[in-house]
Amino acid sequence: SRNMTKNVHFFIESHLSQWGKENLIAMDGTLGNGYDLEFLNNQKAISTIYGFDIQAQALENSKTRIGETEKCIYYIQDSHHHLECYIEGEIDLALFNLGYLPGADKSIVTRVDTTLEAIEKTIGKLSNGGMMVVMTYPGHEEGSKEHEAVKDYLSGLHKKNLSILQLNVNNVIKPCPNCFLIINQLYKI
Ligand code: SAM
Repeated sequence: SRNMTKNVHFFIESHLSQWGKENLIAMDGTLGNGYDLEFLNNQKAISTIYGFDIQAQALENSKTRIGETEKCIYYIQDSHHHLECYIEGEIDLALFNLGYLPGADKSIVTRVDTTLEAIEKTIGKLSNGGMMVVMTYPGHEEGSKEHEAVKDYLSGLHKKNLSILQLNVNNVIKPCPNCFLIINQLYKI
């Protein structure tokens, strides 16, 4: 999973540097321990980050990891499928790292119905050139159901403006984390 996270961060960085847009609005749909937030906080082009998690502990861990920053970060204790209550305008970059918080209660996990609602709403808010990243974990039972649901939902989205890419690591035996990249309009299809 470390590996996939590194790859995902690499693709996001490449996308942001190709795009060249500044003052980006970003969203972290699942703060967890704040590693992804830390990555977003290190991106120069990003100015505002909306961070969501349903667990108070995740918000605390993330706040502690980031500490002082020049960026405007909102720590929101609510489900990501309520995002429109907090984010008025467009989203340039959204990251959803699904599943449970490592080291915490494994029963607090992202759920298919709210995940799909959040994905649909986020795609609806993606700016021109904007990107959404969804990481799934087919290696465990609940994660595998969620992975299939996300994959089916995205493969059924026949929108000309969206490029939807799926990344997985091929040279391993066990099922490993997958990543979906949803890009709005930057590349002509
Ligand atoms: N991005 C995190 C990091 O870098 O440490 C890892 C995220 S962890 C795999 C998944 C997180 O999603 C957990 O902290 C869990 O509490 C959170 N979560 C579960 N359901 C959620 C929901 N409906 N809305 C927002 N967060 C949720």
